[in-house]
Amino acid sequence: MLPGPVLAAPFHLSGEGVPEGYGRYGNPTWSVLEAAIGELEGADTLVFASGMAALTAVGLTLVAPDGVLVAPADGYPGIRGLATDRLAPLGAEVRLVASDTRAVCDAAAGASVVWVETPSNPRLDVVDIAAVASAAHGAGALLVVDNSLATPLGQTPLALGADVCVAAATKSLAGHSDLLLGYASCREREHLDALRAWRDQTGGIAGPFEAWLAHRSLATLDLRLGRQSETALALMELLDGRDDVTEVCHPSRDPVARRQMRRFGPLVSFDVGTRERAERFLAACELVTEATSFGGVHTTAERRGRWGTDAVGEGFIRFSAGCEDTEDLLVDVARALDATV
Ligand SMILES: *Cc1c(COP(=O)(O)O)cnc(C)c1O
Repeated sequence: MLPGPVLAAPFHLSGEGVPEGYGRYGNPTWSVLEAAIGELEGADTLVFASGMAALTAVGLTLVAPDGVLVAPADGYPGIRGLATDRLAPLGAEVRLVASDTRAVCDAAAGASVVWVETPSNPRLDVVDIAAVASAAHGAGALLVVDNSLATPLGQTPLALGADVCVAAATKSLAGHSDLLLGYASCREREHLDALRAWRDQTGGIAGPFEAWLAHRSLATLDLRLGRQSETALALMELLDGRDDVTEVCHPSRDPVARRQMRRFGPLVSFDVGTRERAERFLAACELVTEATSFGGVHTTAERRGRWGTDAVGEGFIRFSAGCEDTEDLLVDVARALDATV
């Protein structure tokens, strides 16, 4: 049974000062969540205020000012912003590379950190984690994997050779679209200690209530992911059968994913042709909320081009299947597509 959230800033403390005395250094509600995520990812874990707080902690502690970072050119835009606006001005060299196993391995020479996101956002390209781990280690670099899309029930990057696994629990892991939270899991004690010092000093800590909600949500992660994965796969098949939709992206298309992933997750992306049709399609769906983010219990979708951050067509939609009845959702999507041909 999960204990309730501990809502405290200072804790009773007399005598010498110790980290247990103040809520920026630790909180019992984080500790139990960190133990639970750590068990799933297979290494000691720290939670942060958001996915970006965790990504920032990892990027700024592992990449030295004279370091070289290989980062995804086509993944979540947050990592590119961090690399080019925060790390590059300090002196670090940033190499932005497509989410492609060969390209990432080729870029590893001379790198200090190789960073991949797989499946990548929003085109769902898959990178072979074991292959890039061996290329990175061969080049003397660390491998960081962003596991936000798959979650540890979908894949465990550390078991495949990654050194650090970082993720936005905001998405599928917490899965109810009601909180932001991030985490990082580290194979080496030294990296964990550096991240803890970063968190203590910069204060990007998770709220106890968010940590407690995320922990409660873990109980249903397997059930949610099961339904979402099943629906996304069925949707891919429905979209494959239509000639008014192109570029149907799904991780299952890649043989590496079939070996590397236990679940494919809630996402399927596709192109309906034009911006105008994409907007009409989203408005015509009754069970789909137009929203960014993914992995929630309610189905959401968005026209990705509206952000101006991804190299995708104007009619490109990223669709996140929720936990609604699969058949209901397929009927709704088919009807909305028919109504907007
Ligand atoms: C959303 C997301 C993040 C950032 O998470 P926030 O909780 O929004 O800060 C990082 N990486 C990936 C792959 C994401 O999808």
